[in-house]
Amino acid sequence: MIKKIGLLFVFVSCLLIFQCVLAAENVAGSEKRIGIMSAMDNEINLLLTNADIEYEDKVGGITFHVGTLCGKNVVIVRSGIGKVLSAAGTAALFNRYDISELIFTGVAGGVSDETQLLDIVIATDLVQHDYGTIDSSGHVWTPPYDGPEDGFFQCDSSLVDLAYKTAAETIGEDHVFKGTVVSGDQFVSSSSYVKLLQERFDAYACEMEGASVAAVCRQYEIPFVVIRTMSDKADGLAVESYENWVETAADQSSSVVMKMLKEMD
Ligand code: SAH
Repeated sequence: MIKKIGLLFVFVSCLLIFQCVLAAENVAGSEKRIGIMSAMDNEINLLLTNADIEYEDKVGGITFHVGTLCGKNVVIVRSGIGKVLSAAGTAALFNRYDISELIFTGVAGGVSDETQLLDIVIATDLVQHDYGTIDSSGHVWTPPYDGPEDGFFQCDSSLVDLAYKTAAETIGEDHVFKGTVVSGDQFVSSSSYVKLLQERFDAYACEMEGASVAAVCRQYEIPFVVIRTMSDKADGLAVESYENWVETAADQSSSVVMKMLKEMD
């Protein structure tokens, strides 16, 4: 009898250990962490320089930098450019870590007449400007079926307010805007398309990742905000402007993120 109980005890213990190993493979660490994501290396360089990285974790070709930044537990990750890779990176991040909120930081093209080079736009909401139907008259925008009815994904209002306040303290209120950011799988370098983005979406900035990240955050119910410094005006001069200003603009967004982290609970 005692032998049987002993065997049962060993069996149950092995089962528990096995389950723990499986769980550890899916969720790396049980601590809550703030996710910080960008599309490109130059958008996370300043963050990595200032962070204490405890370890790096590579999943599906994406490197997660796990550590602390400005006193907070963070995972910093570069997803890659465009809606596909940014959505994949967001899902991988959420599946692997216990993420409390996500801050996306980077550069964008200014769309509203107000937003000038190196101004900051804090997204209040995001929409995929290239979604829809192609018919004989061309592209007809429609909201994606699996999303908010009007197609506009809302950012977390507390994160938006904190990002706005921090950005305004950093570069002055006149250079910071809250508004709609539009995303698509195209680098926009056309004044006529900028007009369309203004008229159709009342957009402040355009980029290539925010709305797809937002779609995944909505599915996982994780609060998020997108912070973008303007590297260009998405017009005919956008390519040259982007090449000249991308580093400065990327660093400026990162500086805002670091100040924000210091003020987060
Ligand atoms: N030339 C680069 C591509 C950069 S794409 C290369 O091939 O390496 C531009 C990046 O900056 C994207 O991550 C996008 O989110 C942002 N961006 C800046 N200005 C933009 C614009 N005018 N249109 C779309 N995305 C823009």
